[in-house]
Amino acid sequence: MFKLVLTGDAGVGKSQLLSRFTRNEFALGSASTIGVEFSTKEVQINRNIVRCQIWDTAGQERFIAITKPFYRNALGALLIFDIQRLETFNNLDRWFQEIRANVGPNPCTIMLIGNKIDQRHIRAVTTDAAKRYAEEKNIKYMETSALDATNVEQAFQQLIQDVHEEYT
Ligand code: GDP
Ligand code: MG
Repeated sequence: MFKLVLTGDAGVGKSQLLSRFTRNEFALGSASTIGVEFSTKEVQINRNIVRCQIWDTAGQERFIAITKPFYRNALGALLIFDIQRLETFNNLDRWFQEIRANVGPNPCTIMLIGNKIDQRHIRAVTTDAAKRYAEEKNIKYMETSALDATNVEQAFQQLIQDVHEEYT
């Protein structure tokens, strides 16, 4: 069982990415999702079936009041920003430190996600800037859209594969 967590500012699309990945759904028009505690999904990596428990926040991120149990023993984290909103990119350092400080002694693989790539015509954060940030932190970067499903499966699959490699 792998525990993964979804982090990043309110409104970046964490809950929609989770529902796209686990149920192939996007809740049109939902202003801000009331998060579930976690969803589970089985993923095939090489010849193994890996059961993933993916934790989402229920809006606590607005108050920077995510509790330690949320992060505890997470083996992987998607650190998500919204390519349309520069402030969500500028807040990444804070999230990065928060993950590192709270996951516990185990290594936690972090992956950077620029979400809402379907809105690339009005993007505020360039792919280059995001790539540079990811290189600086030595993590991978992918661009996704929970709306049209671009790279959602691939991003989770990549993270789970990287976690799997770290632990086998
Ligand atoms: P969270 O607060 O990080 O959980 O964000 P939500 O998943 O609740 O999404 C916040 C808002 O962004 C909602 O209005 C979603 O419909 C919208 N949203 C989420 N993902 C995407 C996406 O990939 N593209 C677009 N255009 N909108 C998205
Ligand atoms: Mg949410």
